[in-house]
Amino acid sequence: MRPTKIVKASLIPSVMPKEDPTWRFALGANPTTEGWVLALSTADGTTGYGYASASAHLGSTLAGLKAILDRLLPLVIGQDAFNIEAVLQSITANLARHNQAKGAIDIAMYDLMAKLLDVPLYKLFGGKVRDSVPILRILAIKKPDEMAANAQKLVDKGYNYLKIKVHGDVAEDVACVRAIRKQVGDGVHLTIDANQSYDAKSAITALNRMAEYDLDLVEQPVHIDDLEGLKLVTESVPVVVEADECAGSLAEVMNLVRHRMVDAVSLKIPNLGGVRNTIAAAHVCEAGGVRYRFGAAVGSRLLSATAMHLAAALPGVTYACEFGEFDRLLDDPFEGIEIEGGVLHVPEGVGCGVSPTADSLEKFAAAV
Ligand SMILES: [Mg+2]
Repeated sequence: MRPTKIVKASLIPSVMPKEDPTWRFALGANPTTEGWVLALSTADGTTGYGYASASAHLGSTLAGLKAILDRLLPLVIGQDAFNIEAVLQSITANLARHNQAKGAIDIAMYDLMAKLLDVPLYKLFGGKVRDSVPILRILAIKKPDEMAANAQKLVDKGYNYLKIKVHGDVAEDVACVRAIRKQVGDGVHLTIDANQSYDAKSAITALNRMAEYDLDLVEQPVHIDDLEGLKLVTESVPVVVEADECAGSLAEVMNLVRHRMVDAVSLKIPNLGGVRNTIAAAHVCEAGGVRYRFGAAVGSRLLSATAMHLAAALPGVTYACEFGEFDRLLDDPFEGIEIEGGVLHVPEGVGCGVSPTADSLEKFAAAV
């Protein structure tokens, strides 16, 4: 039997420049995507990797995450890799909330367990019910003609699902949707993400106008705290309404489902605090008759690969997932997956199926 005790934890920063440094959504613009890569190793060198996203709009910064992980990792070292429930219990008792940091530990432990068992990660989730999912790609806020041109570039690469970032100006947002629909034709699925930028009434106005351009879904139309407004939008528009920023914990997902405030929930492993909470959130949605899928956890291929294993195993995933945003980021610390013809296949290698680049391995060696 291979040793299963976690004896070492190391962190390296991941700062990935965006190919388009002007990439913008309603909550801001940042030329880089930042996070920490966590490596948890056993005595024979078997190593599981996790990723903590620094997302300012979700309340986590690179420096803040490091401080939290430095506090939590001593509680992980010395523990058995298979005792994930006890580890998560002890880190939660030590520090409430901070899902992004906890998620990195949870993801790394799952990767490590799968590697110790010599199996692909999805085997730990009940096996796979599908081999691949269609990938939805995101269009940053620009002028309507530029967004339409960018939409066409993605369609030319084989993508059949697009998400249009809008910013809360009804006339301009409707113009963007119209321009993109005109450019890509009827066969492409379109969604929008308002990132909280409307109030309920303007969301209803915008969505009723956009409905003629055949939208599948709107994400987070109103402010994170305006749950009454969110429910009003859900009840008033002919488009599927999906929660994103306001689905930032298992308890929040439970509340959205219990009161049927939305038609769908976007699940993000880092926001929910890891794989275990994400599976629980998916089951809550299933029990309450609310749809779910996986939203973009923008960052390394490591995040997309981990989420892909879950998407392969959860029967309720019925719409395109956002696992392709790594394609617009440079200097990924991991390699091993690519989008092909608008689709991502679940990696069949051991663990999450991606590996650190040679450069990252050197950084991990130096981090000891
Ligand atoms: Mg979103």
